[in-house]
Amino acid sequence: MARLSQAKLAGLNKTFEHSSPQDLLRWAHEIFGNRVAAISAMQQSGSVVCHMLAHLQLRIPIVFVDTGVMFEETLQTRDRIRDEYGLPVRTLKPKLTMEQQTAEHGVLYLSVDGQQKCCHMRKVEPLNAIKNDIDALIGSLRRADGGRRGDCPILAIDQEMNAIRINPLAAFTDEQMETYIKENHVILNPLHDQGYSTIGCNRCTTPVMPGEPKRAGRWRHLGPWSQYCGINPTDLDEDTSPSVDLPQDLIDRILGQKTDFMI
Ligand code: SF4
Repeated sequence: MARLSQAKLAGLNKTFEHSSPQDLLRWAHEIFGNRVAAISAMQQSGSVVCHMLAHLQLRIPIVFVDTGVMFEETLQTRDRIRDEYGLPVRTLKPKLTMEQQTAEHGVLYLSVDGQQKCCHMRKVEPLNAIKNDIDALIGSLRRADGGRRGDCPILAIDQEMNAIRINPLAAFTDEQMETYIKENHVILNPLHDQGYSTIGCNRCTTPVMPGEPKRAGRWRHLGPWSQYCGINPTDLDEDTSPSVDLPQDLIDRILGQKTDFMI
C-alpha cells in the first residue's frame, strides 16, 4: 500500500476543471473498474448522476443509505431509478430501527449533539459496510449549492472510507442542471416540486421559502449551525491534506504516472 494525499491530487483536480461530468464518469470507470460505486440520496443532483451513468452505459452500482425514516417519495424515486435506468441499486441500512434507537438512546435528532450521533449511526456507519469493496465513491456535490460545498474539489480524499470521492458535478451550474434535467427528462424526487430544495430524513427536512438558502430546510429545528450530516467528508473535514492508503499501481493509474522498478 502507498499513501495518496489531497495535495497530490491538486494537479489532476486542476486538469479536471475542464472536463465534463460525463468525461469524469468515464475516467472513474476506466481507472477504478469494479471498485467504484456512486452514492445517491435520490434527490436532484444524484438523479442527474444516475441518468448520466445509465446514458453512458456504465454499470457502476448505486448506493443508497436508507435511514429507515426516509420519505415515501424518496423510496419510490430509488425504485424508479433502478427499474427505468436499469442501474444496480444497493440499499444500506443502519443496525437499529429508529424505534430501537429511540428506546436505547432517546430522541437524538432534537439536539445538536444528538443529531450528529444520529446521523453517524444512521448514515455514516451503514456506508462503512462497503468500505472494503471500493477505492472510489462518486457523489453529486455541487459548488452552486453554496455553504461548505462552495469550493468542493472534483477529487477529494475520504479518510473514513479510505477512498477517493469523485464529484463530477462540482462545477455544474444551476442553469446546466436545469437544462440537463429538462432535455433528458431526468427522474426527479417529486418532493422538489413541493418546495424541498434538498431532501434527507423525514424527521429533519422541511421545504424552503422563496429567498431562503437551499439548505435552510435541513435540521431547521436545530438552527443554522446544523447543516450537514457527515456522510460527505468535504462538508466537515477541516484537514487540508488528508490521505488514504491505496495500492501503488492504482495510485499510478489515478495520477497518470508510471513507476520505474529497480530489478
Ligand atoms: S437527518 Fe435526522 S433523523 Fe436522519 S439520521 Fe440525521 S439526525 Fe437522524
